[in-house]
Amino acid sequence: MILKVLPVGPLSMNCSVVIDKESRQSVVIDPGADAEAIFKALENTEPKLILATHGHIDHVGQVKKLKEQLKIPFLMHKADVFLLNDPIWNGFDKYVGADLPCPEPDGFLEDHQEICVGKLRLKVLHTPGHTPGHCCFYIEDQRVLIAGDLLFRGSVGRWDLPGGDLQQLKRSLQRVISEIPEDTSVVCGHGEGTTIGREKVFNPLLREILMAR
Ligand SMILES: [Zn+2]
Ligand SMILES: [Zn+2]
Repeated sequence: MILKVLPVGPLSMNCSVVIDKESRQSVVIDPGADAEAIFKALENTEPKLILATHGHIDHVGQVKKLKEQLKIPFLMHKADVFLLNDPIWNGFDKYVGADLPCPEPDGFLEDHQEICVGKLRLKVLHTPGHTPGHCCFYIEDQRVLIAGDLLFRGSVGRWDLPGGDLQQLKRSLQRVISEIPEDTSVVCGHGEGTTIGREKVFNPLLREILMAR
């Protein structure tokens, strides 16, 4: 597997391009901005799918352009469709470089679903809390978790935006840190990556919200 993590847009949103070395088939996760950089990362591969961890426009802002050029399906969780064209704040779409309207998904992700592209196996974990339809993608055989805005290095996703829910976020975080091995690399939705083990020890907000009853 080749994993390219591209920080795009002013919020350094991490778009992931996952490539199967053998077949050269590829998957794009969270094409939020900077379509040209994403197309460049996809060169010499056969793109098969566009996935979104959730419906915030900084994560789906270039789905339209990718679909127009690549003509491949776009999948996300049904519970986040209401967010696809919601700029949240006035002018936020322009600020993050989102090209709206975002196309409707061609299909929906479900918890425990396995997405297979070439030899790649991406397990879908439905992890609501930041948004109702938030999903993480777990590539178990490579020990990689694409965590979207659930978990950050030293922080966790915010739960105060439309559809956010602290109790759900706690359950999702609890699930991820108990199901996923500590040596797993985490690609966060924004900023630097981390590992599950590191966050278990050093993430104050994770510890605090999981301890609080
Ligand atoms: Zn978000
Ligand atoms: Zn985000």
